[in-house]
Amino acid sequence: MAQHPEYSLETLAVRAGQERSQFNEHSEALYLTSSFVFRTAAQAAARFSGEEEGNVYSRFTNPTVACFQDRLAALEGAEACIATASGMSAILALVMALCSAGDHVVASTGLFGATQQLLGTIMPRFGIETTFVAQTDVSAWRAALRPQTRLFFLETPSNPLTEIADIAALVDVARSRGVLVAVDNCFCTPILQRPLDLGADLAVHSATKFLDGQGRVLGGAVAGPKRLTDEVFKFLRTAGPALSPFNAWILLKGLETLQIRLEAQSANALQLALWLEKHPKVKRVYYPGLPSHPQFELAGRQQKSGGAVVSFEICGSRAEAWKVVDSCRLLSITANLGDTKTTLTHPASTTHGRITPEQRAAAGITEGLLRIAVGLEAVVDLQNDLESGLSSI
Ligand SMILES: *Cc1c(COP(=O)(O)O)cnc(C)c1O
Repeated sequence: MAQHPEYSLETLAVRAGQERSQFNEHSEALYLTSSFVFRTAAQAAARFSGEEEGNVYSRFTNPTVACFQDRLAALEGAEACIATASGMSAILALVMALCSAGDHVVASTGLFGATQQLLGTIMPRFGIETTFVAQTDVSAWRAALRPQTRLFFLETPSNPLTEIADIAALVDVARSRGVLVAVDNCFCTPILQRPLDLGADLAVHSATKFLDGQGRVLGGAVAGPKRLTDEVFKFLRTAGPALSPFNAWILLKGLETLQIRLEAQSANALQLALWLEKHPKVKRVYYPGLPSHPQFELAGRQQKSGGAVVSFEICGSRAEAWKVVDSCRLLSITANLGDTKTTLTHPASTTHGRITPEQRAAAGITEGLLRIAVGLEAVVDLQNDLESGLSSI
């Protein structure tokens, strides 16, 4: 199936990557095993040396993980995909595999908090420096280029302000200098946006979010051409953050409903964003599906819809924001997103609480900002829940 790009996304999401075992099971088999048995000593030697293809140990490969990798590769339109234990280990593996001491990275200021920490404070200890620039300012990316620049790393829409990077324009800048472009495609997933179609080299995922879709497991992935994912694999099999077969199996089941979930959750998000925009206690709404979004047109070109994450600034600061959060009875106070259950976060004190106030200010994360990752509940119930808090500030 992974070799059949003529199938549409809906079909690939349900079927790509599956190879049935001798039992001819209908649903994907879960191979919950840490190692694999060889027929002979000679076969063991051939498998270890790579002379013979096949499974050896689940830190390297596992059939359930392979099925997830092939299915996600098919959805991203990528030649190959490597799965990891979490989204952060996907980003770590990508940087460790493709960059060396002395290399330079350009990344957006609005990246996920842990990605900023990784690139901004951990990687410099190993000689890999990152310059952070505004997601939306293509000329700033060009100006940040150095002879040592190896990678552009972006995340679009950004979390939580939903800033849109012009992927094709940044690819143009990078191409002229032989720089790789990696896109964290967590918010859109390949259902709404395919970075490789726009020229990016790699799509990166926190599978923990929409790919799972029901808040059950951690996982991550890097999809792209085999020559690059092979490098990621080489790092991963040695360093160890492999995806568990059980999590891969959960994620496979998540992919099967990805399209209908994202369509329904995006429609709910748009409805909620329109309601918030008219609310007297709301100063500003950040949602790429609203005509008031500064990059509404670009988002319309690059994404199939605005996605399921809406952020908004209330009339007030931290105390008022926390009051809104604490008044909610239905929305879950949790940092996760991409769940069928709607979640509510105060980024300044949670997901972005560990970066410096200066980094927070540069990323536009104010004390009155709230982020909602919209799920599958009825929008009217979400509105009523938010209204109780908003009307009390
Ligand atoms: C959650 C998230 C990550 C990290 O993923 P984990 O699975 O939590 O390690 C990376 N990027 C974005 C955009 C995320 O939302």
